[in-house]
Amino acid sequence: MAGVSLENVSRTYPGGAAAVRDLNLEVIDREFLVLVGPSGCGKTTTLRLIAGLEEPDAGKITIGERLVNDVPAKGRDIAMVFQNYALYPHMNVYRNMAFGLELREGVSGWQKWWRWALPAASKRELAARRFAIAERVHDAARLLGIEHLLQRLPRQLSGGERQRVALGRAIVRNPAVFLFDEPLSNLDAKLRVEMRRELRELHRRLQTTMIYVTHDQVEALTLGDRIVVMDRGKIQQIGSPMEVYGLPANRFVAGFVGTPAMNFLEGVIELNGQQWQFRRGDWTLPLAEALSLAEIELTEFLSKTDKLPVTLGVRPEDVQVHAEPAPGRLRAMVDLVEMLGDASVVKLRARVAKASPGKEHDPHSDEEIDVLSKGEPMAEWHAEQTVFVSLDPRKLHIFDRETNDSLLAGAGSGASGRRA
Ligand code: ATP
Repeated sequence: MAGVSLENVSRTYPGGAAAVRDLNLEVIDREFLVLVGPSGCGKTTTLRLIAGLEEPDAGKITIGERLVNDVPAKGRDIAMVFQNYALYPHMNVYRNMAFGLELREGVSGWQKWWRWALPAASKRELAARRFAIAERVHDAARLLGIEHLLQRLPRQLSGGERQRVALGRAIVRNPAVFLFDEPLSNLDAKLRVEMRRELRELHRRLQTTMIYVTHDQVEALTLGDRIVVMDRGKIQQIGSPMEVYGLPANRFVAGFVGTPAMNFLEGVIELNGQQWQFRRGDWTLPLAEALSLAEIELTEFLSKTDKLPVTLGVRPEDVQVHAEPAPGRLRAMVDLVEMLGDASVVKLRARVAKASPGKEHDPHSDEEIDVLSKGEPMAEWHAEQTVFVSLDPRKLHIFDRETNDSLLAGAGSGASGRRA
């Protein structure tokens, strides 16, 4: 068992852009850490750097207490499970799981030829090693519920069973750190959910450090003790699933985590008398509640200007649709209602007039805003209906439009957070 540390690690492939840029990451001993991000963000490269399958151009990689930059992959005490399982097709399940260990212990089939010359005591010792390996394979197979498959070939297994064999092969090695590279992406949706639970359970039983790569944010939220969100080779936020979902550090994280994605509305924050408000065109939204909860650091910004350009973020589940108007509600038209079974998503289109004091309202200059609302499955709304939209004032996110960083206190206060 061991923690893993990456200090200022960078990797640029020959002829390519930087895949990983000045990465700092502390994986705590025995934690389940998930690296998540869109395709090409550098998560697989990060995993391969830890595994020793790639060399960093700069920086230090430590596993446990040991600096491993110059240690080859096989000496790093890690086991990696890949998306494509990488099983030997001509070996049965038992041999697939035992093969690596047998090689390590010098008792594999092809090492037989010199055994005839050994003295009896050494032969007995080798037999004991083979027996110990068999025990480990059977223990792992029992843990994964695949004991009855030990004699089958990989082609006689389903995708889920193959994935269990690949896991079993990693478990028998009893590594200090498990590395998983999108191991569930070849499975169908139902099996994926089942395997996720099994992986959590496996982690609970084995109490070993696990680092898991996925592009699927739902998988990340359900599996990780902590999540690392990456984009373009850089860490955007590190935190627990609740932190990353509830207080995203920046607009990228806010938009990446959560389905449907967060709504973003551009506008300004300004003072209306004694009250802060958000304004987009002629629509205004009092921010007192959001700001008192969030302790936003506005004074610093608004000492320089009376209007701060921001992006307001609100998750679809925090948008409510009403039949009646009320102050702060946005008038909108229902575009589409999608039934998801346990919920429904209402796509709304609002129009806001450009605020031009002293001038007559010109409808041609109106701007359209798309807003999604997620709520009860039996939504009473239908297309083209006029409705009124309210945003939960306690669940608003506010991002600086220049930097895209969250202006809420505490947002991204993890290891790499803006305010760390
Ligand atoms: P995916 O989810 O698609 O696997 P990823 O987040 O794991 O993406 P990486 O595989 O780490 O991303 O790739 C990061 C960047 O490095 C990408 O731009 C990719 O094109 C590039 N890259 C990866 N491997 C190589 C390679 N062997 N040679 C050149 N460029 C590479």
